[in-house]
Amino acid sequence: MIIREKAVGFRDRRLERIAGKLAAGGRLDRKDGLALFETGDLLGLGKLADEANLRKNGGRVFYINNLHVNYTNICVNKCRFCAYRRSEDERGAFFLSAEQVVAKARELWHAKACEFHIVGGCHPSARLDYYREMLTRLRREFPQVHLQAFTAVEIENIAQVENLPVPEVLASLAECGLGSLPGGGGEIFAEKIRSKICPEKISGARYLEVMRQAHQLGLPSNVTMLFGHIESAADRVDHLLEIRALQDETGGFNAFIPLLFHPWNTKLEKLRKAGAVDVLKTIAVSRLLLDNFKHIKSFWIMLGLPLTQISLFFGSDDVNGTVLEEHITHEAGADTPQYMPEEKLVSLIRQAGRIPVERDTLYNPICGEV
Ligand code: SF4
Repeated sequence: MIIREKAVGFRDRRLERIAGKLAAGGRLDRKDGLALFETGDLLGLGKLADEANLRKNGGRVFYINNLHVNYTNICVNKCRFCAYRRSEDERGAFFLSAEQVVAKARELWHAKACEFHIVGGCHPSARLDYYREMLTRLRREFPQVHLQAFTAVEIENIAQVENLPVPEVLASLAECGLGSLPGGGGEIFAEKIRSKICPEKISGARYLEVMRQAHQLGLPSNVTMLFGHIESAADRVDHLLEIRALQDETGGFNAFIPLLFHPWNTKLEKLRKAGAVDVLKTIAVSRLLLDNFKHIKSFWIMLGLPLTQISLFFGSDDVNGTVLEEHITHEAGADTPQYMPEEKLVSLIRQAGRIPVERDTLYNPICGEV
């Protein structure tokens, strides 16, 4: 009903139709998604997405005190958008032992940190025991910290190195303390694009299958989409609809994270970074199509702080976290800092008139104004 009243005055008739559909409790389809990307009524689109978000999250905006640890940049894949990976014998290549990962975690550690976010390249020969040892040592030293580690792509790689089925690898890691999977590696599912930007990487279907298997074992995850390179709006819509279908089936995704492509230092550096309008549209369309997601995350490292703040009016309810040492996007030219003090995140949310809520990995509030 609220939406019907606010629908009056959309500059694009298609938005009025979509607003009516939403007000009637309908689910948006591919045609709607395309219309939302095509619209010139950015503020109208933002209003629809904002309403959808407020209905789910009531003005609360989440953040987390987390720490990022990258254990290796050696990777068997050669994704063209990646400025981070190295070959084993290349200058700058590194591979931390399990003990060194713990030492790194110790160095970054502070009392409020409640999550280690651990990702790396797809190492050609690291064995399952290495990952198990890493988690076991971290669990022993930081029993209160949630271990969110290894993307679906890394999990598949470990399974291939070990010649084991993915569920066995996941169960083995969960036994050592793995709490959830980060969402990296989704890129864009459309095969014609994926084969150009990351030809060696597992397919979109395989990525979703690993996620399905994780969810079936009780391991939740996030899920991502890399946008702003050579994909079309239709590719983005299809990507979102595939994610929505899996969420219908498992309910295992905590948050969707649209990742803005940064071209510098990559094989795609001739491309221009997507502009603010495109970013805001993508966040808003994600919120509207992903009606079975509670959380849409704006990753400040990729968006920068001003756009992250504005995105809170376009359907986003999460600004990620304090991070402390991000390398992957910075190697691709991100000019944001590597660490964001909690006070800054809180103030960014408050200045937007929203309610900051500190959360844990699974979105349980730790403290906040509600
Ligand atoms: Fe490897 Fe990940 Fe970089 Fe692809 S994006 S090359 S899988 S580190």
